[in-house]
Amino acid sequence: MRKIVIAIDGPAASGKSTTAKLVAVRLGYLHIDTGAMYRAITLRVLEEGISLEDADSIKRVAKQTKVRLERTGHTNRVLLDGRDVTKEIRSRDVTRSVSAISSYQPVRDVLVREQRRMARDGGVVLEGRDIGTVVLPGADLKIYIIASAGERATRRKKELELSGTIVDRQVLEGEILERDRKDTTRAASPLQKAADAIELDTSSLTIEEQVEFVIAKAKEIIQQRP
Ligand code: C5P
Repeated sequence: MRKIVIAIDGPAASGKSTTAKLVAVRLGYLHIDTGAMYRAITLRVLEEGISLEDADSIKRVAKQTKVRLERTGHTNRVLLDGRDVTKEIRSRDVTRSVSAISSYQPVRDVLVREQRRMARDGGVVLEGRDIGTVVLPGADLKIYIIASAGERATRRKKELELSGTIVDRQVLEGEILERDRKDTTRAASPLQKAADAIELDTSSLTIEEQVEFVIAKAKEIIQQRP
């Protein structure tokens, strides 16, 4: 059976990761979290004490740093020059700075090349901001996931609480909206819905319903083109 390419894009904390991960498990596909790659480069920039405005140094870091996603069971480990940074890239410092770093075209050039390499043989679910528009405009199935800002902040708050971090919901909502603003207004590959993407509003859906929706669409395509 043909292995298709599924692109899942959408704003911050809209449910992309959870959906992409579970869809990949159900289909036996590889899940590629492209946001994790931008986060890894951001972590390196912060560790080196480089200013978020220092374009030349950020370009150098992007060219010299190897970011890899390594499959471990059903999930990925994020490797930064071979070091496992899976947990560190979720810190709030990285989250606050990642949109600035991802707006640099040289950073995107390096990571997009790697993302296309990983998707080459199909059987992949990629999630991010520009998968359906720039990375893989020929993807077989494109889903654009949205959710209300309030719901996204509530989800992020619960997620942070699981790792022992308590943050005010209003503060989180403000940070999420600020990241969306930066991601949608940047010059390089801004977040936008591809013309042929299917919009999925997850505000009042359960995770199982979101996953079922994508699986049903994927199966239609897989069965159309054996
Ligand atoms: O998906 P996640 O929230 O982890 O992504 C972190 C950040 O990485 C986004 O806010 C965005 O700035 C950047 N990103 C991007 N292009 C992608 C994936 C993520 O610019 N394909």
